[in-house]
Amino acid sequence: MTGPITLRELADIDVEIIKGVGERRKQALFDYGITSVLELLTNYPRRWVDRTNEARVGDLVTGQEALVLVEVRKVSKFTTKSRRTVVTVQVGDESGRLTAVFFNQPWRERQLKVGLQVAMFGKADLYRGVLQMSNPLVDLIGDRTGRIVPIYPQSEKAQISTWELATWVENALERCKERGLCDPVPSELIKRFELVDRTAALWGIHFPDSMVAKQDARRRLAFDELLRVQLVLVGRKRAFERDNTGIRHVVDGELQRRFIRTLPFVMTNAQQRVITEINQDLVGPHPMHRLLQGDVGSGKTVVAVSAMLAAVQGGHQGALMAPTEVLAEQHFSGVRKLLEGLQVPDASNLFGDRQLRVELLTSRIISEKRRELLRDLANGSVDIVIGTHALIQEGVEFASLGVAVIDEQHRFGVEQRAALRGKGGDKLDGKRGGKHDDKSAITSPDVLVMTATPIPRTAAMTVYGDLDVSVLDEMPPGRIPIKTSWVAGAMFESGMWGEVCDAIAQGQQAYVVCPIIEESDKLQVAAAEETFKKLGKAELKDYRLGLLHGRMSSSDKDETMTMFRDRKLDVLVATTVIEVGIDVPNATCMVVLDADRFGIAQLHQLRGRVGRGSIASKCWLVTSNPEESSPRIDALVESTDGFYLAEVDLELRGEGTLMNTMQKGASDLKLASLRSDRDLIDLARDAAFEIINADPTLKNHAAMRDELDLLLTPDEEEFLFKN
Ligand code: ADP
Ligand code: MG
Repeated sequence: MTGPITLRELADIDVEIIKGVGERRKQALFDYGITSVLELLTNYPRRWVDRTNEARVGDLVTGQEALVLVEVRKVSKFTTKSRRTVVTVQVGDESGRLTAVFFNQPWRERQLKVGLQVAMFGKADLYRGVLQMSNPLVDLIGDRTGRIVPIYPQSEKAQISTWELATWVENALERCKERGLCDPVPSELIKRFELVDRTAALWGIHFPDSMVAKQDARRRLAFDELLRVQLVLVGRKRAFERDNTGIRHVVDGELQRRFIRTLPFVMTNAQQRVITEINQDLVGPHPMHRLLQGDVGSGKTVVAVSAMLAAVQGGHQGALMAPTEVLAEQHFSGVRKLLEGLQVPDASNLFGDRQLRVELLTSRIISEKRRELLRDLANGSVDIVIGTHALIQEGVEFASLGVAVIDEQHRFGVEQRAALRGKGGDKLDGKRGGKHDDKSAITSPDVLVMTATPIPRTAAMTVYGDLDVSVLDEMPPGRIPIKTSWVAGAMFESGMWGEVCDAIAQGQQAYVVCPIIEESDKLQVAAAEETFKKLGKAELKDYRLGLLHGRMSSSDKDETMTMFRDRKLDVLVATTVIEVGIDVPNATCMVVLDADRFGIAQLHQLRGRVGRGSIASKCWLVTSNPEESSPRIDALVESTDGFYLAEVDLELRGEGTLMNTMQKGASDLKLASLRSDRDLIDLARDAAFEIINADPTLKNHAAMRDELDLLLTPDEEEFLFKN
């Protein structure tokens, strides 16, 4: 081969080619998770020891933490009477001696061989007149020279030292020198974004001359990771637009205008802005594929209805899919009220107009009623249908589905979303007649996905990067803020129940949410039942209590929910099944038991069940330990802003949750962080748009295309696209 070395070539080279890697080391590397040279080079150091910051043993100050570079001189091990092992290690440098003591780490005896160079970090103390560190952090750096030494992730399973890894990486990089590394990122971008080149980046991440060089290297490599993800997302987005013909909807028609005029309130600026964004998509030639994020109560429904009306205006239909029957019914009665009295142009009618028709389709609509409804959906006399996943079942056909709205998207799987989109099209092909010459194009409805779970912008760009995103970041005026308190200890709890009783006595209602028990559904239900009984006998004995949990049949659940809504129950004791969308404005109290078992997002969702009416609401987060609050609970007490809380969540939980959401798609994100690389994500996204807009299939960027194929499997690409 000639020319610069590609990542694919590196991926095809076995590590055994590296000097010093024989059969045994090869096996050890395999156990560590490395088989190819590419994997070796992208196994980045976990941290770097800067030798210029090290102290000499002679300069150690007792009581202060410091890093020392020392040589192992003597190791001994003994077991105490209480059967603890103690490994004592004498170390030192030319300025003095130090004892390191390790408790219950018997393997240190094997690890710390006499003569080894190690970096130790810890607090030095005087013990019987001798300088000592207890359980210091230890990095084996061997005889590596250089000012900054890389420390690689250690593996318990594979006995590979960090200096072996460093030596092998160095050998691999040396051997790349002759041909150089292929860099698929356009040089113009590299210059504009002030990125270092790839060769410099790989040397710099493993063997930086300075911490600044290390930062530059990291920035470049993280950029590459993010660019790859964004290229896939943006590429898919453009491909979707190219392959799907949308309907050019009629926006700002009589229906939309009249609907907005007759609303009993003034729309927020955010609602107006988002409706404009959506209308721009709707008139365009491509089907909309947009995510609407808006906190609980931000008024997403109005936006959804406005979009569906654009479809109806042009003679098409709108569909709104909700995750549960209760929510579908709630939407149905709400939307029907909003649309009361609206007329649709009807050519077949002598008077030229007919009532706009909204219907409900759930699995509870059966027999004759269902048959009629299906017929009317297929012949176009139903304008807007609201339902559950019953909407996407076999046998449901639309005359012309123009706009599909999916509420609370995280409850629906990828396939279900695709299925609803698939309900559009067919019939339209007939209608379109000869207007489109491009026979291969599929006609798709415009899709609006709505979620009440705010996620930070950068995360949205990475997880939902193939969707356009709109945000309702403003609450309708006049909301009375929910007062949230942390409750711990018997005294405060009884005060809380007192307040709940007062509220009920004034005709208000309350939710009591029982703890999540992750190990078992059954245990969770049992706990809910127990809480229900206990409260019914003691704290809330004078009131009517209902119980709601996931193991009840959906008709029992609905019955209980309906009773609560109709005020036949004062208190609803429930598991997290009430998390999504339930709207009972008269409920003003929310008690969450063992609140420290919930995540921030979940608590925020739960709290959103109250504060929906004209009376001030309260939320109590109960934990058992009065000594220790949790940062999550503090955040909820402090703020009701979902986007702020999402940022806090990202900070506290690290990447974990989001990366889990992305599943496999994240495997190429080794260095990039959704938390700390916001600017880089923006750059990568801009770059991806620039590249894809000029070269949609990357045919002029073969090297880049090849890297995407190599590093993002079709599965991952598929996942990124569909999510
Ligand atoms: P969500 O975003 O949680 O779905 P909804 O669409 O259910 O929110 O709206 C919550 C409540 O706020 C509804 O009762 C709705 O009628 C009302 N609402 C929506 N927009 C406004 C507004 N601009 N001004 C006042 N009330 C509004
Ligand atoms: Mg809603």
